Amino acid sequence: MQQYQVIVIGAGPAGYVCAIRCAQLGFKVACIDKWVNARGKPALGGTCLNVGCIPSKALLDSTHHVHFLRQHAGRHGLKISGLEVDIPTMQKRKDKVVQTLTRGVASLLKKNKVDVFAGAARFLGGQQVHVEQLEGTSQQLQGEHIVIASGSKPSTLPGISIDNEQVLDSTGALNLREVPERLGIIGAGVIGLEMGSVWNRLGSEVIILEALPEFLPAADHTVSKEAARILGKQGLDIRMNCRVEEVQVSGDKVAVSYSLNGAGQLLEVSKLVVAVGRMANTEDLDLDAANIETDQKGFIETDERWQTSAENIYAIGDVVGGAMLAHKGSEEGMALAEQLAGQHAHINYDAVPWVVYTWPEIAWVGKTEQQCKHDGISCRTGEFPFRALGRAHAMDDTDGLFKIVCEQENDRILGAHILGPNASELICEAVVAMESELCAEDLARMVHAHPSLSEGMHEAALATDRRAIHF
Ligand code: FAD
Ligand code: AMP
Repeated sequence: MQQYQVIVIGAGPAGYVCAIRCAQLGFKVACIDKWVNARGKPALGGTCLNVGCIPSKALLDSTHHVHFLRQHAGRHGLKISGLEVDIPTMQKRKDKVVQTLTRGVASLLKKNKVDVFAGAARFLGGQQVHVEQLEGTSQQLQGEHIVIASGSKPSTLPGISIDNEQVLDSTGALNLREVPERLGIIGAGVIGLEMGSVWNRLGSEVIILEALPEFLPAADHTVSKEAARILGKQGLDIRMNCRVEEVQVSGDKVAVSYSLNGAGQLLEVSKLVVAVGRMANTEDLDLDAANIETDQKGFIETDERWQTSAENIYAIGDVVGGAMLAHKGSEEGMALAEQLAGQHAHINYDAVPWVVYTWPEIAWVGKTEQQCKHDGISCRTGEFPFRALGRAHAMDDTDGLFKIVCEQENDRILGAHILGPNASELICEAVVAMESELCAEDLARMVHAHPSLSEGMHEAALATDRRAIHF
């Protein structure tokens, strides 16, 4: 039996980062992953690299260009005729991006001398793990510490089975080879909106059915209301208060029965994407063998040091629930490695940024104005629209706004919310500000380059004190 100081199960963004950091800190590390790509080859990087963050952004970027060429190029004096969209080439580029990055993870693990096992891991009890290797043989490993980073997989609704032909999960939605005439999506969460944007830009009529009464409830209401308006204008037909009850496939049509405020409705589409959230990926780990407990939804329970109910066995990333985001998992991986090495490790979960990669992008960190009210925190807000920024006009991209929420009493920044071009990049300033416990006044006094979109943060900070200059 091979002995390791740390065994990491899963090579997604939580697992591979943890494995590399453990190796950097001098541990002897094994990392086990069972993922195989469409060509039947082992592929590292987990959901994020193979079927999540990266391929979705590759398609969002490609289709953003299509949208620009069709809708905006003319305004820049660019006359485009005979534009053709070649979906197989677009998909091939996406696959190449994935391949480059998954290979990159393999070489990073190799460079850091992490032993990689391609296969499925399960607990044998104690500190032992059995690996059923993809090549057909098996291995048993013993670890002083074992880290579970087995991630998540798409959920579905009772009675709806995914065939990835007509009823698709997020992976199926990323791999369509033709533009569906009418695309139904269940769930107006991050994945539903991103996939809806991709296929809408390519010409699908997109109808999104969402059970909740409120659009993007985790976002600040000023931002979510404006986002709903802009996405609606782009052609996304987002229907709230719609609870899907039944789905029937007949021939090349999918019939979706749903209730709208209690009344029965029927929607017929050519393809349906089920984007109703994700669940923990633990099915073949045999957690019981190591006495590892899960909560009612199946997520592994841990304490604040990521330890499970079993001593020296830890869990990080999507498999523990919370914010199911790649960067949250990676930070947990890094912090756990440092904790195992006896260092101080801490994550400020209040400063984890969220991004929805629609266009305009939607990004936020920290508290919304509504949460502050709910929690009894007295706050001030400052807003600033993109249409008041010179750079946004130069870019011909003026939709959206910045909003900063700060504490009434001491001006400390509690949250920032951005709807606009490059919000995913702009939010970083707010993360730095929150991690550094800065006040709105600090941002208001920092020099921001002109002309740049970041001036919007500056002006929103000034606006918390009613002294914005350009609006
Ligand atoms: P995963 O990435 O799921 O990796 C877990 C790994 O464990 C997998 O490789 C799996 O093969 C392996 N594994 C599981 N069980 C075993 C076993 N028994 N033995 C061996 N190996 C095992 N997040 C963002 O932050 N930004 C985004 O833009 C974003 N976009 C997304 C778009 C889509 C379409 C989807 C589906 C997700 C997106 N996410 C995004 C979420 C992000 O992908 C996840 O939060 C992230 O991948 C979680 O990382 P993880 O390491 O915890 O798990
Ligand atoms: P996320 O958790 O970001 O992946 O988003 C999933 C979305 O799907 C949430 O907004 C849920 O409210 C929504 N959802 C879940 N079940 C249903 C259902 N039966 N019908 C419509 N929407 C649903």
